[in-house]
Amino acid sequence: MSWEENIKKVIPYTPGEQPKIENIIKLNTNECPYPPAPEIKEKLEKFSYESLRLYPDPSASVLVNALSSYYNIAPEKIFVGVGSDDVLAMAFLTFFNSNKPILFPDITYSFYDVWAELFKIPYKKVPLNDDFEITIEDYFEENGGVIFPNPNAPTGLFMDLSMVEEIIKKNKDSVVIVDEAYIDFGGISAASLIDKYDNLLVVQTFSKSRAMAGMRIGYAFGSKKLIKYLQDAKFSFNSYTMNRTSLEFGVASLENVVYFQETCGKIISTRERVKKDLKNLGFTFPDSMSNFIFARHPEVPAVELFDALKKQGIFVRYFNAPRIDDYLRITIGTDKQMDIFMDFLKKYLQERL
Ligand SMILES: *Cc1c(COP(=O)(O)O)cnc(C)c1O
Repeated sequence: MSWEENIKKVIPYTPGEQPKIENIIKLNTNECPYPPAPEIKEKLEKFSYESLRLYPDPSASVLVNALSSYYNIAPEKIFVGVGSDDVLAMAFLTFFNSNKPILFPDITYSFYDVWAELFKIPYKKVPLNDDFEITIEDYFEENGGVIFPNPNAPTGLFMDLSMVEEIIKKNKDSVVIVDEAYIDFGGISAASLIDKYDNLLVVQTFSKSRAMAGMRIGYAFGSKKLIKYLQDAKFSFNSYTMNRTSLEFGVASLENVVYFQETCGKIISTRERVKKDLKNLGFTFPDSMSNFIFARHPEVPAVELFDALKKQGIFVRYFNAPRIDDYLRITIGTDKQMDIFMDFLKKYLQERL
């Protein structure tokens, strides 16, 4: 008998590389290429260093109230956490306690099965169709919960809100979580449905569209009942999840609506331009509504392109997993970064083919 027999053994999630090299073009973890709202810089300069002595507000009320007025949703229907990963993990712990399996797509955010394993939640991966679309009828069977991202990751495909609603409608006996990490890049949020369905949780983040991945802020919208259950679980785990800087800088980000919309607009227009450029080089990809494109080349293996790009200091994401091991997930950077990326690809393919 060894102490190791009683250890919880898990295979952790593998995050995208954060290379410690300077001057690379980093298109591998869906970060925003532009800085966060300038208001944050002002707050940073005025931030009271002395205040770090004190615990932060466990109810995170300044941030919750700012989100409440930004989205016009009552504070009692908002939950905040340390990135949406924290919010999602807490939601798995709180809502997925059935003996029936929870359902999520086979190709999706690879943290879902990690949490399911960690919390010993039975789960079933539901295959996307050959076009990488969710078949909504697959989610009408009995289950212990449903979760999917919309737009999905790493495909970038957005599912129409009416189809999202069909899935929620058919699942009144379980909690449905819509992970909207990429919703600000052209999709339509399911947040408008939380008053209609008290079993719906909509999760969003400051990490992608708000350029604040380093700050770790995530949030969720749901019925008062749902949010209360989440709060109870959170306060049974760690009361002070949101630190003082996250609270202040999160509020500052929400203050500048114009800057936020401009940043998202720039990324969307670069994305549409890059779609055309990639198509011209023979790449195919699902029609992304996110800040990345999931592309494959019919003649050149993805892993070869991945390595060649890396040698040039251009980092994209490659997943060695069934059905997607011939794809690259390319985060949308600035126009200049994407020009360098496209120029390299063009030259490489010309020499190679
Ligand atoms: C990036 C991402 C998250 C987590 O983001 P946080 O930085 O933890 O807020 C959650 N879901 C999906 C689908 C993502 O791509």
